[in-house]
Amino acid sequence: MSRAEELAANLAAVRTRITDAETAAGRPAGGVQLVVVTKYFPASDVRILADLGVTAVGENRHQEAQAKAAECADLGLDWHFIGSIQSNKAAAIAAYASTVESVDRVKLVGALDRGAQQAGREVGCLVQVSLDPPGASGRGGADASAVAAVADAIAASSALRLRGVMAVAPLGEPPAPAFERLAAISAELRRDHPGATVVSAGMSGDLEHAVKYGATHVRIGSSVLGSRPSIH
Ligand SMILES: *Cc1c(COP(=O)(O)O)cnc(C)c1O
Repeated sequence: MSRAEELAANLAAVRTRITDAETAAGRPAGGVQLVVVTKYFPASDVRILADLGVTAVGENRHQEAQAKAAECADLGLDWHFIGSIQSNKAAAIAAYASTVESVDRVKLVGALDRGAQQAGREVGCLVQVSLDPPGASGRGGADASAVAAVADAIAASSALRLRGVMAVAPLGEPPAPAFERLAAISAELRRDHPGATVVSAGMSGDLEHAVKYGATHVRIGSSVLGSRPSIH
């Protein structure tokens, strides 16, 4: 099987899983957006995915993302940044990302806004929410109590658009109750920011639970591209 055939088959299987999850949740088919997470995989795979109709890709490391976005600039893809952000890299990320999904502290907002303004573009932002117990060293994200402050800072900036929330299911806990908490946090955010409708949740192992609890976007890596090389 060629790489293109392999990716086509994997992508079809993931699209079927999403549709089945939408149906099981009583949601209309085709509403959930797929972001294919291409981290650690080459630009040649991104090119194949674009050929197969993928329009949004996710990356979690700035240097790799920046290089791949430049190499694939002709494809017109939306680049979603989904990794932890160092303050001194935020402005550079805003120059190529159409959506920064991992805004988890107020401190990042000024630099992202500056980068977006310098690049003359609007950048969508999601507040990354921690679904771990408060204070736990988990997978990043703002504690639920800090979401409003991050969201307000994004909303008050000039070149950033607050689109919603993102989260990763916590380690050592079933994903469903965590995604249910995320849905409540999203509902609370939308009381102050009605346009912040995006809920990015769900990965290869748990997308069905995420769709059940209202995810509008799923971020799928290994189910489409295969296992990531372990050298990273
Ligand atoms: C790597 C990654 C994904 C994709 O994970 P898979 O389990 O490979 O689908 C999704 N979201 C984030 C934040 C990631 O870092």
